[in-house]
Amino acid sequence: MSIPEGRIDMVIKLKQFLGNVNTLEVHDTANEKILCQLDEIKPAHRRWYDTLSEAKADRPYDNCYWCLGASTR
Ligand SMILES: [Zn+2]
Repeated sequence: MSIPEGRIDMVIKLKQFLGNVNTLEVHDTANEKILCQLDEIKPAHRRWYDTLSEAKADRPYDNCYWCLGASTR
């Protein structure tokens, strides 16, 4: 797989939901916004999930304000 020019930091989406285990925020990559800054999440902090409930069963994630809304914090 080649990386398109100028998009070196793009996040390759393995599944729909991406959790940041550092900030404990979860994102819906199907509704990704620029403000999610998914490319700022260090690869070591990324966890991928098929569903939001799967993510929340794994860790006490909060919803990302930008792509999921309904933040519980
Ligand atoms: Zn987000």
